[in-house]
Amino acid sequence: MSKGRLIVLTGPSGVGKGTLLKSLIQRHKHDLFLSISATTRSPRPGEVDGKNYHFVTRSQFERMVAQGEFLEWAEFAGNCYGTPRKPVEEKIREGKWVILEIELDGARQIRRSFPSALQIFIAPPSMAELESRIRGRAQDSEAAISRRLQRAWEEVEAAGEFDIQVVNDNLERALDEIEDALFEPVAAVC
Ligand code: ADP
Ligand code: 5GP
Repeated sequence: MSKGRLIVLTGPSGVGKGTLLKSLIQRHKHDLFLSISATTRSPRPGEVDGKNYHFVTRSQFERMVAQGEFLEWAEFAGNCYGTPRKPVEEKIREGKWVILEIELDGARQIRRSFPSALQIFIAPPSMAELESRIRGRAQDSEAAISRRLQRAWEEVEAAGEFDIQVVNDNLERALDEIEDALFEPVAAVC
């Protein structure tokens, strides 16, 4: 059986992490398991509880934090997000490759608790393009967009902390680069 492995995909909101992951999971559904986070954010149109996120109240989230149910958690743009510990640990024990799609603070926590996790940073071609993608998605309020853009500057400045930086300019090329990083012959394992 192959060895379990933890992979972190991070980068500013709107850069295309979700879009890239959807294709990546489609291409490698037998190899990769995408962790489903809990969040206090309200569902966007079309988002499904238990599929996109586990949507919880702030008091439920606080109880989960107090009970140590998260591998990592962070507050982002006014909402809380966390990675449920149990399914991730189970999958890794089963020899699966688990991907976390998380923001900067969470990625830093994982770097401390799982130093062998592969950490991939997705960067935008430019900040102007990032803003246009967030607006084009048309799913966030003006206040949420400005909080996300403000945070994006700090996130992009931290890109150098990560093992690999992939600029999501052309989707196919970005996917190829992520696949190269994941499936290169000599890879770190948890
Ligand atoms: P994130 O998950 O990082 O917040 P999304 O995957 O929701 O970002 O993507 C934000 C928007 O950018 C979506 O409308 C998506 O279709 C678009 N997008 C993603 N990647 C690209 C790309 N390479 N070129 C142009 N638009 C893109
Ligand atoms: P969104 O509200 O756009 O779905 O997500 C906002 C940000 O939260 C994104 O950068 C996303 O990667 C991040 N995020 C999603 N789930 C988690 C999680 O479990 N933990 C942390 N730290 N960040 C998360």
